[in-house]
Amino acid sequence: MEQFKYGKDIEEALDEISELVTGSELMDVIAEEAIEVAHAALKLKRTVKPNLNPTDGMSYEHAKHNLLTEIADLRVGLLAAGYIDDSNYEKFIADMVKFKTYRWLDRLKEQQQKAGGAV
Ligand SMILES: [Mg+2]
Repeated sequence: MEQFKYGKDIEEALDEISELVTGSELMDVIAEEAIEVAHAALKLKRTVKPNLNPTDGMSYEHAKHNLLTEIADLRVGLLAAGYIDDSNYEKFIADMVKFKTYRWLDRLKEQQQKAGGAV
């Protein structure tokens, strides 16, 4: 396994974080990082569709990088809290992505039908 700072692999580092940070504080981290994901997504949108709150020249690529970084921060919080672990996370996410994608498409088609549009 890849080694990181302090001679610890990622699992050991997460374990140590969870010993140093209380469960309540980990929930705060998760909530804050989720908010940062939302902010980064809105900022990414503004690089594509500018509005009255300019991005100070931030590029689309930079904003996309920031969004993915915030998603990584959120994942670290979830890992440290023990809500997910890397052994089951990827399958869980893949299953949920499939489920949510089809559900979203179902809802869009239902909306189109209600509006009398093509399906
Ligand atoms: Mg963050």
